[in-house]
Amino acid sequence: MHGPTYRLVPPHGATTEGAAAACAATILTHVGLPSWVVLAQDYNQRGEPALCGLEVPENVRELLDTQAWLVNRISLQPLVTVVQCDRCGRVQFSSTGKDAPCGLTMGCVGKLTRPPAATLVPVDNQDTLLTEPD
Ligand SMILES: [Zn+2]
Repeated sequence: MHGPTYRLVPPHGATTEGAAAACAATILTHVGLPSWVVLAQDYNQRGEPALCGLEVPENVRELLDTQAWLVNRISLQPLVTVVQCDRCGRVQFSSTGKDAPCGLTMGCVGKLTRPPAATLVPVDNQDTLLTEPD
């Protein structure tokens, strides 16, 4: 291992909950684990997260921490994702991630949609030296 090769960047324009869910899903995809619960168990056994060369910036770690109630339920297999209302902002767990009319607030005419995805940005060698975890 030569330190991080990718940096996780939260989605632009997402709410706090949406960004947390998107980052969690992207991390799971990258490390090849089915759910956040499995990742947490793996973390507890190793004493360090197996992030497979992924750099998770401090602000994203804090985000995942403060939204642990939500992140702990994120799963790729079976799919558990978050959809969020574009009007009232409420979130709901979803097993499809498909758009749906908001039913979370009485009278709300918003739409529940999946938050935009987080992105992985390649880290150049200089950055890698600065963030070497060992
Ligand atoms: Zn709504």
